[in-house]
Amino acid sequence: MENASDASQPEMFVKYEVKDAVAWIWLARPECGNAQNYRLLNQLDDCFRRAVEDDGVRAIVLGGQGKHFSAGHDLGTPAKDRHLPRERVHLWGDHLTREGAEAQYVLEQDAYLGLCRRWQEIPKPTIAMVQGACIAGGVMLAMVCDLIVASDDAYFQDPVVRMGVPGVEYSAHMFDLPPRIAREFIMLGLRMPAQRAYDFGLINRVVPRAELESQTASIAAELASHPTFGMALAKQAMNFVENIRGKRTSMDALFHMHHLAHAHNQLVTGNLVMSMGAKAMSAANKAAAGEAEKG
Ligand code: ZN
Repeated sequence: MENASDASQPEMFVKYEVKDAVAWIWLARPECGNAQNYRLLNQLDDCFRRAVEDDGVRAIVLGGQGKHFSAGHDLGTPAKDRHLPRERVHLWGDHLTREGAEAQYVLEQDAYLGLCRRWQEIPKPTIAMVQGACIAGGVMLAMVCDLIVASDDAYFQDPVVRMGVPGVEYSAHMFDLPPRIAREFIMLGLRMPAQRAYDFGLINRVVPRAELESQTASIAAELASHPTFGMALAKQAMNFVENIRGKRTSMDALFHMHHLAHAHNQLVTGNLVMSMGAKAMSAANKAAAGEAEKG
């Protein structure tokens, strides 16, 4: 990490560049599968803001450096930062001064549900460019984008029922997948390979890994060629229709169940996610994948 040795500079977990009217925003923690700590999410928000405010930017690509798009929320890397003060984007309280269930609730209102909703409403077209793992918090980031382009080695997974919670904090699954498949996706929590995700319309393209960037760039160029206000209104209109169909209210309901589950887990097991950290989740996922192949 280029700034890690300079204590006066904040550690950067996201990179930003503009090429040919397209902002390329990169999750840049490849050493831990682009796991999302809270600083990464705030830096991501800064980058989205920069892209929105730059009139020269007409489309946005969100990608991940390295082998994986994102392994999800940070469950325990050395840079996990739940204990650090964070700048809040919405008008929610400081989680560090709250007790009991309120602490996690205000944190996730701002950093997870709040930021994802804010990004979904960005008035410029967005593309998630996904390779390798796209798990739980990774699925949230992909789903807030307008289009998803994935390489043939990508897979999507929301395995968090293993943590005793009913899906991720921003759950668009029932809107982005056919109902029976969304149930399977959440209740079994197995990997959905890119081709299967494409067959169900979760993603827009499956491309060879070597062509992921070039094919995404050509779609972004096409999006960038359209009139910006027309594009913004088209996006608003589609968000509006989804919300009339219940996306926003059903996500609110799910978010509150998610927090009932966190509180229950804390009461019963002493841990918000039943102590299912990165290692335990990975082992459980591997075992489940083996069973699925046999079955
Ligand atoms: Zn949560």
